[in-house]
Amino acid sequence: MIGLLGFAAIFGAGRWFGWSSRWMWLAAWGWLAVLLVAHAPYMPPGLGRFVGGEFRGWLLLGVLAVVALAYRTGLRRLRGQVVPKAEVAPKPGTFSPTELDRYARHIMLREIGGPGQKRLKAARVLVVGAGGLGSPALLYLAASGVGVIGVIDGDGVEGSNLQRQIIHTDARIGMPKVFSAQVAMQALNPFIEVRPYHRRLDQVTAAALVADYDLVLDGTDNFDTRYLLNRVCVAAGKPLISAAITQWEGQISLYDPARGGPCYECVFPVRPAPGLAPSCAEAGVASPLPGVMGSMMALEAVKHITDAGEGLRGRLMIHDALYAQARVIVVTHRADCPVCAGLHRAAAQS
Ligand SMILES: [Zn+2]
Repeated sequence: MIGLLGFAAIFGAGRWFGWSSRWMWLAAWGWLAVLLVAHAPYMPPGLGRFVGGEFRGWLLLGVLAVVALAYRTGLRRLRGQVVPKAEVAPKPGTFSPTELDRYARHIMLREIGGPGQKRLKAARVLVVGAGGLGSPALLYLAASGVGVIGVIDGDGVEGSNLQRQIIHTDARIGMPKVFSAQVAMQALNPFIEVRPYHRRLDQVTAAALVADYDLVLDGTDNFDTRYLLNRVCVAAGKPLISAAITQWEGQISLYDPARGGPCYECVFPVRPAPGLAPSCAEAGVASPLPGVMGSMMALEAVKHITDAGEGLRGRLMIHDALYAQARVIVVTHRADCPVCAGLHRAAAQS
């Protein structure tokens, strides 16, 4: 009787004083050893009777306990060999449960759905310029789940950028814009790939980069780059979403002569005379205006990739923020366009 009470006392006291289970079991094994010794033939017989039970009974209990312990240890060792399946990367073209939850509001849209979200994941979009237009465009492309997003810009973050270039932060002044943008995008969505190119766009870089992407977004603020990018995109047959802003007005279109519609140079054949189309640095710009137009770029990109609704191919949207008006005008290709005329002649003959 005393023997059983001893075990009860050990586990009771262990609970009460908060011993670790290791110590409780050690004490129990110790007590079992005491009981066995008390029943040993060389001990006075009164001691055996005092603790209760008999030698063979206690020995059987000890053997059972050893077997149970061996079984448990073996089971643990087997489990240890099994590789945990917790974070298995989903197969290409499929989504993990976390991603499904992340993109749920897209997937429930009839025009996007699961197939559209897969297209976004498979898409590769290049954004030229990580400035006013690039900031919201890059953030929304990242949030939308565009699989690979390239961003090219040769500048660093400056204090005067932060009035509108919201992808950057005060703490990142001095950092190259593409790396600052990468930090923000990957903080927003770790399920996408961001490829930063810290350099200015020239003819060679443009041709090599554009070939690597399905769609190009032009958010630059200078005409040399705009015309260069247009030529490269037309030559590579890649669609180009181009937006521009000044002061209170913005415009945006999708230039895609390979699939009909004009190129940028069809619509703007003549460069504005110096001073007639001043940059934001020269003329100023309302802080949220690049936010509106850059977001529209991302929206048109999502529509283009998922084939939702009607895009801006052959249509130029002009947003007059000062008077809260927007209008869309039809734009067509020019037969004498030096950039894309060949494309249209080829299309007409076939
Ligand atoms: Zn053209």
